[in-house]
Amino acid sequence: MTAALHALMQISNGPCGCYIIYIDSLSVLQSLQSVHYHSHPLVFEVLDFYYRLYSRGFTVLFCWVPAHVGISGNEQAAKSAAHFFNTSIPACDLKKHAKANLHLKWQRQWSLETDNKLHFTKPLIENWPILKNRRSDTMMTRLRIGHTRATHRYLLFGEQMPMSKHCNCSMTVSHILIECQYFNTRRLRFFRTTVVSLPVLLGRNSHGQLIPFLKSIGFYSLI
Ligand SMILES: [Zn+2]
Repeated sequence: MTAALHALMQISNGPCGCYIIYIDSLSVLQSLQSVHYHSHPLVFEVLDFYYRLYSRGFTVLFCWVPAHVGISGNEQAAKSAAHFFNTSIPACDLKKHAKANLHLKWQRQWSLETDNKLHFTKPLIENWPILKNRRSDTMMTRLRIGHTRATHRYLLFGEQMPMSKHCNCSMTVSHILIECQYFNTRRLRFFRTTVVSLPVLLGRNSHGQLIPFLKSIGFYSLI
């Protein structure tokens, strides 16, 4: 957008006539085409300049060129466009920049937390789709954080930690889903393998057979 403004400024110094500005960014052209009250301030600046030229008898066309293919000097021109201006930065740009930086910092910190059990299931900080069914969504969250009624109610009731009745191991979500040998035949039936991992079952797109599996082993109603 800055480059478009610069091009218009260059045109205004030239003789009145017809000009074409070639732009490789489709999004810039789209935002010039559909202006909203919340459009970027630079969009208004470009359009204002454009109409001022128009009223002086100039004809300026904007043309999209996909990528910089075969146009010498274009890449350099685009990169240096920002240096032509010593203008202030709109608050919305600053906010976006700060947000991106904070997210990067957060991700870097999270990437170091490899011992955290939640890191294993969700290594990338991003929004995961919310399931339309509230019951399923709650259930997925409980499984992902490893806190379910069956495995954690003992804390509220001051009871002993529950043990798996099949193998006498402590009952945890990961034990039930991926470790307990007792459910291997069910795993084979629903997941077509006995070796499954938490990210595969509970990741961004949970395994399609997870709920049928949980129902078949009788854990679904205890989550
Ligand atoms: Zn077990």
